[in-house]
Amino acid sequence: MSILNATTMRQCAFEVVRAVAEPFSCEVQRSKRKTLALYVKPGKVIVRVPLDASKAEVEEFVQSNRAWIDGRLSEESVRYSERLVIEHGRRIFFRARELEIVFRQGHRQRIMADGNQFIIQGDCLTPAKAREQLEDYLIDKASHYIIPRAKGLARYLGVDQKISKIKLRKTKSKWGHCTSQGVLQFNWLIMLAPHSIIDYMIAHEVCHLIHMNHSKRFWLLVNSVCPEHEHYIRWLKQNEHRFWF
Ligand SMILES: [Zn+2]
Repeated sequence: MSILNATTMRQCAFEVVRAVAEPFSCEVQRSKRKTLALYVKPGKVIVRVPLDASKAEVEEFVQSNRAWIDGRLSEESVRYSERLVIEHGRRIFFRARELEIVFRQGHRQRIMADGNQFIIQGDCLTPAKAREQLEDYLIDKASHYIIPRAKGLARYLGVDQKISKIKLRKTKSKWGHCTSQGVLQFNWLIMLAPHSIIDYMIAHEVCHLIHMNHSKRFWLLVNSVCPEHEHYIRWLKQNEHRFWF
């Protein structure tokens, strides 16, 4: 969205483009651009087009990409159905295992994985309370796991003095971040993933203390401390939509 701005963009919401198979909601966004592009969200297609594109041109573009759109729409609907909803009886993808969420009555607040169950125990639990409890649990796990490991790896690489702060924050789409001032930031939702994935995230951000880019030298360094990183990146891409709540 960075190339669009309020003055150049005219948004035309929910212009429905009739399709041969089943119709879908299609939003046409006009802006100062030269080409047409498609973006797919659950149950919705966004077409970004130049200001002067005709309706026929837009429809033709959508129809000619119909097979790709259908594939992406079904992918998105699977991803949507797999999203994390914290309610009794729903599923949670915890450390690469699918567990059943169980709300259990108890005065002592606790969270534990037991067999195929992910138990959230608390007093008169509601989904909102359980969600807060899970947030606290993950933040606590992250502060005990991520912070010492990031410091340890930085020490091993001889750059621990470069760390000015380690922040834990739930961001909308990022897993981690490293600034040139030495602030490392990690998304605590990553604590739902297996430890190998968390370790890759830590390695990625700590290596940015040495290379502030994604150059070949950066990836060589990541590889030296996390040789399976390509596998973990693929795993994250396939599964990360299951962690956000
Ligand atoms: Zn990076």
